[in-house]
Amino acid sequence: MVQMAITPFYEQLGLPLVKQKVQVLQVNLGKRCNLACSHCHVEASPKRTEEISPDVCQDLIKLMYQFPQIKIVDLTGGAPEMNYGFKSLVEAATATHKQVIVRSNLTIFFAEGFTDIPDFLAEHHVHIVASLPCYLADNVDKMRGHGVFDQSIRALQWLNSLGYGKDENLILDLVYNPQLPKDDNFSLTPNQKNLQLAYKNFLAANFNIVFNHLLTITNLPVGRTKLYLERHHLYDQYLQFLASHFNPDTVDNLMCRQEISVDYLGNVYDCDFNQMMNLPAKTHNGETLTIRKLLEFDSLDLIQEVQTADYCYGCTAGCGSSCGGALV
Ligand code: SF4
Ligand code: SF4
Repeated sequence: MVQMAITPFYEQLGLPLVKQKVQVLQVNLGKRCNLACSHCHVEASPKRTEEISPDVCQDLIKLMYQFPQIKIVDLTGGAPEMNYGFKSLVEAATATHKQVIVRSNLTIFFAEGFTDIPDFLAEHHVHIVASLPCYLADNVDKMRGHGVFDQSIRALQWLNSLGYGKDENLILDLVYNPQLPKDDNFSLTPNQKNLQLAYKNFLAANFNIVFNHLLTITNLPVGRTKLYLERHHLYDQYLQFLASHFNPDTVDNLMCRQEISVDYLGNVYDCDFNQMMNLPAKTHNGETLTIRKLLEFDSLDLIQEVQTADYCYGCTAGCGSSCGGALV
C-alpha cells in the first residue's frame, strides 16, 4: 500500500504551542518495574536499573518548597513505588500542600518489600491512578502478563477496604488503554463516560469494587508501542489514522501546556512522551533545562513553546488524550 505523507504536527497547529504557567510537576522516577507490559511507552521492566539519584531527589524536594505555583506532583515510572526516593517525594509534596498523584500498576502492592504501600498512600491522601486496561481478565493478562488481572482486582479490593473510591480524600481512578492493533482496522478510544459506566457496573457486580473515574488514554506511537507497530508494519498507517482524526478543540487542554516532566537524571521535558523520545524542553533561545537550572534561575516559566512531534497526533485525535484522560 502506498503511504500518504502526513502534515507535520506543528503545521497542523498553525501557531506555536504556547506554554502556560507551570502548575504540574510530573516526575518519572525511573524505569524499574515489576511488569513489562507490551504497550509500555517507557519500556520499563524488572531488568531495568535506571532510577532517580539522591541528588536529583533532593533537588526535586527543593523545587516543591521553592515553587508554591506547583499545585500537583504526579509520580510515574516504571513502577514509581519501586524507584529511589518515592516515599520522600510523596512526603515533601504532602508537606508543601500539593495534590499528589501516583500512577500505580497495583500489582506492586504484593511484591516483597512493598506491601506497606497501600497504607502509606492512604495515610498521605495520595490520589491513585491505576492501570486496568480492560475489565476482562484475558485482555489484561495478554497486555500485562499472566495473573495481572487477578492481582489488580485484589489490589482494588484492598484499596476499597482502606476507603479508596469511597472517602472524598482517597481518590481512586482507573486507566483504560486500547489493545494494540493487530491490523490496520484502527479505532479511537471509546467514549470515556460510557466506558466508565460499563467499568463501574462490571466491577461492582462481579467484584464489589468501587472507584471514582475512568481515564481513557490513547496509545501514542512511542516506546514499546512504536516498536510493536513497526514490527507489524503498522506504524505509518497508525500515525495517519491519528492525524486524520485531529480535533482542534483538544489543543487548549493539552497537558504539556501546564506541566513539566522530569526524568531520573533531572532533565526537563514538556511531557513524559517527549521524555521517552528524548525531545527536551527548550527556552526561547534553545537552551535545554534541568531542575538544577530552574532552582538557580528561580523560575519554572522559562519555556515559551512546547516541543512537538508527529506522535502528538495521539493526544489530539478524537476526544483527545492526556495523563488525565480525554480532553474534550
Ligand atoms: S506500562 Fe506501567 S506497569 Fe507496565 S511495564 Fe510500563 S511502567 Fe510497568
Ligand atoms: S505528546 Fe501530547 S502532551 Fe506531549 S508534547 Fe505532544 S501533544 Fe503535548
